[in-house]
Amino acid sequence: MAGNWKMYKTPSETTAFFGEFNALVADASGQEVVICPPYVSIPAAVAATAGTRIEIGGENLHWEKEGAYTGEIAGGMLVDAGAKWVIIGHSERRQYFGETDETVLKRTVAALGHGLKPNVCVGEHLAEREAGKTNDVLVGQIQGGLAGLSAEQFAQVTIAYEPVWAIGTGKTATSEIASDAHQVIRAEIAKMFGEAAAAAVRILYGGSVKPANVKELMAQDEIDGALVGGASLKPDSFAAIVKFNK
Ligand code: PEP
Repeated sequence: MAGNWKMYKTPSETTAFFGEFNALVADASGQEVVICPPYVSIPAAVAATAGTRIEIGGENLHWEKEGAYTGEIAGGMLVDAGAKWVIIGHSERRQYFGETDETVLKRTVAALGHGLKPNVCVGEHLAEREAGKTNDVLVGQIQGGLAGLSAEQFAQVTIAYEPVWAIGTGKTATSEIASDAHQVIRAEIAKMFGEAAAAAVRILYGGSVKPANVKELMAQDEIDGALVGGASLKPDSFAAIVKFNK
């Protein structure tokens, strides 16, 4: 269960969040819990979750080790700050910051090189779904964003299916839509990395996941977890999502 905080929460707001959240999920078991705060809030998140099973991630990284890339962040910097995970290719990066499948692949390779666990996001726009292109879009993003990884590298990758029309809109994909998309992704992974890798890879669903709909989504065999934006910002709602099976 992963939270993507986007451009929300200062370091002090981050400390306050975990001041409530840690206790709420102390009795949760069976799920990995990851929160990806803005870069400057990572140290506060790492400090506030020390000794818990909550892990911290970045929301992006650059593929170069370091250099003249004003405003970017390197994988080694995330690691040094205590991050274990990183989101790559979120639709907001694709939509507003020129992210392409090519740069997704470069960032994924860089993340793996730094020992970070990449969560690679894919998903179709509404117009693509309405034009019947969803499967082609997903296959293209999976092929382009993960091409050429070795089996060992791919074993560290998780994927998030996030239909763009469901992100931050309150419109959740039905569990059937999500399940179908996850099957398409898994079938492509089987072609690229083999059946065992396809069975093992964890595919998270993201798009307006809330305490009220998480149980039904998680009941689908194909859905292995959730990537949560808005509902991860409040300790009680994200704790309810983490503990959906309680
Ligand atoms: C996201 O940002 O990855 C996301 C799924 O957002 P929300 O849960 O707010 O739709």
